[in-house]
Amino acid sequence: MKNILHVSSECYPAAKAGGMGDVVGALPTYLPQYGINASVVIPKYKTKWIAKQKFKETYAGTFLIDNKKQKFTVQKLSSKGLDFPLYCIDLPGLFDRESIYLAEDGHGFKDEPKRNIAFQTAVLEWLINEEDENFSLIHVHDHMTGLIPFFMQYCPKYKKLKKIPSVLSIHNGSYRGIFEWNEVSSFLPKFNDSDAGTLDWDGQINSLAAAIKCAWSINTVSPAYMLELIENSDTLRPLYESEIHKCKGILNGIDSKLWNPSTDAYLKDHLKSHIKAAWKTFKAANKKYLQTKYNLIARRPLIGFIGRFADQKGADLFLDAIDDALKNNLKFNAVILGSGDKELEQKAIDLSKTYTREVGADIAYNEKLARYIYAGCDFLIMPSRFEPCGLNQLYAMRYGTVPIASHVGGLKDTVVDISNDGEGIVINNLNKEAVIDAINRAIKLYQDKKSFTDLISKISKLDYSWNNSAEIYTNLYNEHLK
Ligand code: ADP
Repeated sequence: MKNILHVSSECYPAAKAGGMGDVVGALPTYLPQYGINASVVIPKYKTKWIAKQKFKETYAGTFLIDNKKQKFTVQKLSSKGLDFPLYCIDLPGLFDRESIYLAEDGHGFKDEPKRNIAFQTAVLEWLINEEDENFSLIHVHDHMTGLIPFFMQYCPKYKKLKKIPSVLSIHNGSYRGIFEWNEVSSFLPKFNDSDAGTLDWDGQINSLAAAIKCAWSINTVSPAYMLELIENSDTLRPLYESEIHKCKGILNGIDSKLWNPSTDAYLKDHLKSHIKAAWKTFKAANKKYLQTKYNLIARRPLIGFIGRFADQKGADLFLDAIDDALKNNLKFNAVILGSGDKELEQKAIDLSKTYTREVGADIAYNEKLARYIYAGCDFLIMPSRFEPCGLNQLYAMRYGTVPIASHVGGLKDTVVDISNDGEGIVINNLNKEAVIDAINRAIKLYQDKKSFTDLISKISKLDYSWNNSAEIYTNLYNEHLK
């Protein structure tokens, strides 16, 4: 068995803000069958899950940041429940907060640069001093851990790690961890001035760019997104072009043990068997839950939305489309779960007040409600402007919910239009009118009971578990572990 370490700012169930948390919590459980033992290290936040667990301190150290001594401890999860070793790094004053990224005002924490750099430095301090652990590859995720491959290569203090391969997964290339040099130079561990250019992009420190330059391999979380990233990546385009030889797209999988309609711990009513009648009972019971919760009109197709209210996800398009479509008497209901942009949050609430019997909205991050939406909706809409992979459509299909998805990134790789014998309704040329059009098509499909139940039966059988992609990651690791 080979030991590797995932370094991440999220890992389900300890700390999750989106798809990256799901990936880091699932991929390690699928790797041992291919000869890889994967451990995970994240910051020790004050999340509810972490607060309930028992940990054993395995290392204590200090390092200099901003010319002050920062203490940290590495604590290994000793409670049972996870199928892989989880380490949490306790950095007093920096991560002992309930939220992962956002302060109460909905914006990122003001000390984000210091927190990011401190966590990454602590990981390296641990790795060079820890005798018991021997990781033969370091896998970092997005810009939050993107400085690690640079530190491993260029900081004299960490030269012991120079020969250890590093892999970068890009879950979202639009966030880059950009810092002003004068803002953070006192936070960084020492390196030679002549190497500073590797951290730099356009006169600023760019954590993602540094990771792209220094990591031994890079992957995006779907093949289509890899191509889009190169084509649309504005200022980083030349960098992607020059590093293309080490780039690859690997489609995310889902943890089919945790996301299982027959056993899902968040749901009351489970799928009893895979025959069509059992699916009908399962869907009806969970739809009833949502209809009752939001007081919705019965016997209408129910379209769900789950996600961040950010430009990427196109929630604005869906909210506008709901308004127009219901004004024009289209017969459907909608349930919205998400948060983010304050104007959109207000718009979702206003819609639920205007269309009291047709629209339900929750401005929240709520794992349990998300499961009910996957299980109880007839359709799940993802009008994304770009989508690195998108897990929602995969969860939706597993729970017998038909995806309505734009034609970008990972959605392109996983949802083909039903007119081509595919899995769902594809929105081409994304705009409000195209979303209304898709709602119209969903209503018609719902009325054609035979086609609709056949489609549910088909998509619920698809295997998007991590089995396939875990093997591709293993091959990638093995290229460096020979
Ligand atoms: P992202 O770009 O946000 O990472 P993904 O589709 O990759 O999007 O993953 C989203 C994950 O986050 C899914 O597990 C989804 O169910 C979950 N999620 C997103 N928003 C919410 C929310 N408001 N409440 C509960 N779960 C959510």
